[in-house]
Amino acid sequence: MLALLGLAVFILSVIMGERLSRKALKPVIQNMESQKKFIADASHELRTPISIFSASLEVLEKEEKSKMSSFSRETLEELKDEVRQMKTLVSHLLTLAKEQEPQGIHRESFSINELARKTARQFEQLSHNPRTIKVIAPSNDLMVKADRGRIKELLQLLLDNAIKYSEASSPVEIRLKTQGKSMLVIEIKDEGEGIPPADLPFLFDRFYRVEKGRSRHQGGAGLGLSIAKEITDQYAGSIDAESQPGKGTTFRVKLPILA
Ligand code: ADP
Repeated sequence: MLALLGLAVFILSVIMGERLSRKALKPVIQNMESQKKFIADASHELRTPISIFSASLEVLEKEEKSKMSSFSRETLEELKDEVRQMKTLVSHLLTLAKEQEPQGIHRESFSINELARKTARQFEQLSHNPRTIKVIAPSNDLMVKADRGRIKELLQLLLDNAIKYSEASSPVEIRLKTQGKSMLVIEIKDEGEGIPPADLPFLFDRFYRVEKGRSRHQGGAGLGLSIAKEITDQYAGSIDAESQPGKGTTFRVKLPILA
C-alpha cells in the first residue's frame, strides 16, 4: 500500500513539480485564454486525487503507524510533505489562473492591525510548525480599503516563507506603520537563512526559487511571491525584499491608504 502510494505521489510530483517548470509554464499562464483555462481546469482536476492521497495517508498513519518500521514511518512523513507541497502548488496555480480573469477590484474598509493579529495567531497554532509571531503596530487601528481576503492571503504567503526559511526557535515579526499620510507599510521580518543579493531581483518571478534543492525540500514551488506581487499590484502597491544571507529577510509591502 505504502509503496503504491509512494509511486503515485512520485509520478504526480514529477509531473507537477518538475515538468511544470518555470520555462515551460510561464508562457502558458501568461498568454492565451485557452491555456489559462487549461491551467485552471487541470489544477481543479488535480485537487481530487491529491485530497484522496492526503486522506489515504491519514488513514495509514492512524491505523498502521504503530506497526511500521522506522524506515516506513520516515517514508510516510516524506509522502505527507510531498502531498502538502502538491496541495500548495495546485492552490497557487488556481489562484494565478483566476487572477488572469478580468474582474473588478473589491474594496472594503478593515483594520490591518486586527487582520495581522488574527493571521499571526492562526500561524502560531499550525501544528506542523508552531512559532511565536510578534505584531508590532501603533495602538490606533490602521484602516485599509481593499479585499480583506486578498490581503490576508498576502500576509499568509509572507509568513509562510518567513517560517519555512528560518529555524523553529527564531523570531518572526509583523510590523505595521504608515509612511506619510497616504501609505501603509507592512513588514514581515525573519532571522532565517536569508537570500543572496544576486537572487533578489528575480524573487517575484513565477517559479523562481533561490536554490532548487533547498526550496523543494522546504516544500516550495516558487509561486508564492509572484502571487504576493500580483496582489500588491492589484491595489497599486509595491513589494520588495531586503536580506542578508545568514541573518534574515524583511519583506516590505506598501499599500495606498484610501479615505
Ligand atoms: P516557494 O514556494 O519556493 O517558497 P516563493 O515564491 O514564495 O516560493 O519564494 C521564492 C523563493 O524565495 C523561495 O524558494 C526561497 O528560496 C526564497 N524566499 C522567499 N522568502 C524567503 C525568506 N523569508 N527567507 C529566505 N528565502 C526566502
